[in-house]
Amino acid sequence: MAIVNNNVEIAGLEDGFSAHKLFTQGYSYTYDDLIFLPGYIDFATESVDLSTRLTKNIVLRTPCVSSPMDTVTETSMAVAMAALGGIGFIHYNNHPEEQAELVKKAKKSRLGFVADPVCFKPSDSVKKIDAFRETQGFSCALVTETGAVGSQLLGIVTETNLAFDADASIVGKVMMTDVVTAREGLSFEEAASILVDKELDHLPLVDENGYVVELLSRNDVERIRRNPALGSPSVGADGKILVGAAIGTRDSDKERLRLLVDAGVNAIILDSSQGDSIYQRDMLAYVKKAYPGLDVIAGNVVTTYQAKNLIDAGADALRVGMGSGSICTTQEVCAVGRGQATAVYKVASVAMERGIPVIADGGIANSGHIVKALTLGASTVMMGSFLAGSEEAPGNYFIQEGRRTKKYRGMGSLEAMAKGSDTRYLGDKSKLKIAQGVSGVVTDKGSILKLIPYTMHAVKQGFQDLGASSLHAAHKNTRSGSLRLEVRTGAAQAEGGVHDLFSYEKKRF
Ligand code: 5GP
Repeated sequence: MAIVNNNVEIAGLEDGFSAHKLFTQGYSYTYDDLIFLPGYIDFATESVDLSTRLTKNIVLRTPCVSSPMDTVTETSMAVAMAALGGIGFIHYNNHPEEQAELVKKAKKSRLGFVADPVCFKPSDSVKKIDAFRETQGFSCALVTETGAVGSQLLGIVTETNLAFDADASIVGKVMMTDVVTAREGLSFEEAASILVDKELDHLPLVDENGYVVELLSRNDVERIRRNPALGSPSVGADGKILVGAAIGTRDSDKERLRLLVDAGVNAIILDSSQGDSIYQRDMLAYVKKAYPGLDVIAGNVVTTYQAKNLIDAGADALRVGMGSGSICTTQEVCAVGRGQATAVYKVASVAMERGIPVIADGGIANSGHIVKALTLGASTVMMGSFLAGSEEAPGNYFIQEGRRTKKYRGMGSLEAMAKGSDTRYLGDKSKLKIAQGVSGVVTDKGSILKLIPYTMHAVKQGFQDLGASSLHAAHKNTRSGSLRLEVRTGAAQAEGGVHDLFSYEKKRF
């Protein structure tokens, strides 16, 4: 057979394997087992188009999704993921009302803007501000007619005012009334330019009546501008950022779902480590009937027949991976699962024919893994450990063995299950709790506002090396057999990493 490289047939030459040939030999491969052979480059890295679909109906600019885990995605992660063109899924290891509140808060947030700035009434006592400052701290408070957001802006109080007017007893006497404001709806860059040009520390955004909508502060502008420029955010038909959430498949999850829909959730994950079950089918049928406009992601699956069953049941996307997660012990405990590269390729081969996007979930440790997942057929990658040590992940940093770290735990770890996440592992009704995950620690990743743009640039370089100018082109090359790949021996994997150095420092960017 002749090699077809970027649709150019190179007669008489054959090299590497097609994906079809490689994945039909009875081996379960994961990302590190494989290596892609390079293609022909006739485009620049910057022109690689990574835009994609999360589900049948939701389009994303960036193929990245944050895991619904309680050490990965709450409001701050969801807001930042959407700002970067991806999406975050808020976990459900909490009460339904709490989860809905997290969704609501994320939906009304825009990266950099404070959606619920601290507000007081002019008649409030200065002591009230002092008490608030001592317990919660602030750099400024807005003064509005009712003492809440959504009411007429009357003034602003900063640390400086309080210091100068130490004798004043009510807020109305210390506030500054000469406040520069901007109209609601400005983009981050537009509002940031006003703040910087006018040398302000704070810029309240107000509606046409002068009612407070949100607040921009200099600290946030500086923090965000330290990172690569943000592109357009992921926004839904409601004009607000896209936010997803996970639920289980119990009857009580129907009430949870109702609250999430009321909160404006854009997509739902039916969360299970083995999704090909009567529970998911029933829940899919229920959601499709009760909320026909809501996209539902089913899974997890790793085989073609699981994929077919869930697509037939109405899934709008499939989440792929069983045992591939960094914190996961499912394969060890249950002896069931699949190597993630094989799982993604196999599931995508069925899903693609039906127009259903695939989310490669778990096992992503570097940009090369993302290139592999996307090329093998995934439309997005879902990440837990990769994002868990970031500033946007829930939890505080702590020092362990001299390194700045954050906690990261599997939702099937005993620790997380003790808080209620055992439905994912079908263990909620059982008295004997068996862990399918561990609780651990990851190192500081900084902000995802830097991590994701740099990682996506590396992914684009990978696509360029492959000769694939878009996700669509990569999928096509894989299916047609023009993508060539091989399995790496243990020695080849060692050679593919840094080796034979006395010491080195590995900086990613
Ligand atoms: P990571 O990105 O850390 O490699 O994997 C994250 C993924 O692992 C999650 O999106 C989820 O699918 C899966 N996961 C999360 N917690 C657990 C767990 O405790 N056990 C198992 N088996 N999988 C988990």
